[in-house]
Amino acid sequence: QAKRQGRNRAVSFQSEFVEGVSRRVQLVAELRQALERDEFVAVFQPLFDSDERPVALETLVRWQHPERGLLPPGEFIPVCEESGLIVELGRRVLDQAARHYRRLVDEGLPGLRVAVNVSPAQFNDELVRHVTETIQRHSLPPEALELEITEGLLMQDPERAIELMRQIAALGVSFSIDDFGTGYSSLAYLKRFPIDRLKIDRSFVRDLGSDEDDAAICNSIIGLAQALDIRTVAEGVETVLQLDWLRARNIDEVQGYLLGRPMPFEELLPLLLRYLERTREPALLA
Ligand code: C2E
Ligand code: MG
Ligand code: MG
Ligand code: MG
Repeated sequence: QAKRQGRNRAVSFQSEFVEGVSRRVQLVAELRQALERDEFVAVFQPLFDSDERPVALETLVRWQHPERGLLPPGEFIPVCEESGLIVELGRRVLDQAARHYRRLVDEGLPGLRVAVNVSPAQFNDELVRHVTETIQRHSLPPEALELEITEGLLMQDPERAIELMRQIAALGVSFSIDDFGTGYSSLAYLKRFPIDRLKIDRSFVRDLGSDEDDAAICNSIIGLAQALDIRTVAEGVETVLQLDWLRARNIDEVQGYLLGRPMPFEELLPLLLRYLERTREPALLA
């Protein structure tokens, strides 16, 4: 009896494993097809400076699935990374960012940055070539482009990362470290990389004002970054309490649902125009 149960369990484990693999294989096929059919769309989330002026847009990818609707990156980015499809997807996203920068300029909104997330699997010579090409093809001012990378990428092969970052930074493109605080890098170590900004992970921002440890972590990240002349950005700002706390510590930029969710460019555009009008003429607020 016990033996049979054991065997059944082994069989069911095996079939679950096989199912998992075949689901993944199917997903890769679907993703490949989605690239062919151009089903990936970019949404944009605004970042604001300490004067509440919009200063940047983060490009975030979504999959407009024919049956399942709009899917968040968590559902497909990991498989794109494992399968190598992230390289082609990354090209499309960078292209979208450059195109929409052009739209901003055409609409009378120059001077904003566009940020693009870059996976470790994309971080190679090919990326340097593609960034160079994109800047030229779209006449994108390199200072307007920002690449968001993670601590993990820096730690994996630091020498290689520094080399590639230097090549890209030499073009005038800037780097931010995304989800900062969740990896294992020390700020002193970060000084070796050409980094312009640290984006404090939203898990530390969430409980600001109630969790003293998170407040201490945010405090020390902001303080040390300021000392090292690296700008700070807080992600996941959802409440006025969090915003006030961060502003009181002279955070450089904030991003979060409180100020603007990721949305299609056409929806974001009127909001940006309104924000800028308001901040350009503060008298209107009085
Ligand atoms: P991320 O780069 O850290 O992007 C910020 C994520 O936090 C976004 O999730 C955004 O919707 C979410 N967020 C922003 N403000 C708030 C807030 O106030 N509260 C909460 N709870 N969440 C907030 P999203 O769009 O689901 O993206 C998840 C991750 O997927 C991104 O995290 C990024 O790592 C990755 N990703 C997105 N687009 C791309 C892409 O084009 N290429 C690559 N390689 N990765 C991407
Ligand atoms: Mg990001
Ligand atoms: Mg982030
Ligand atoms: Mg994050």
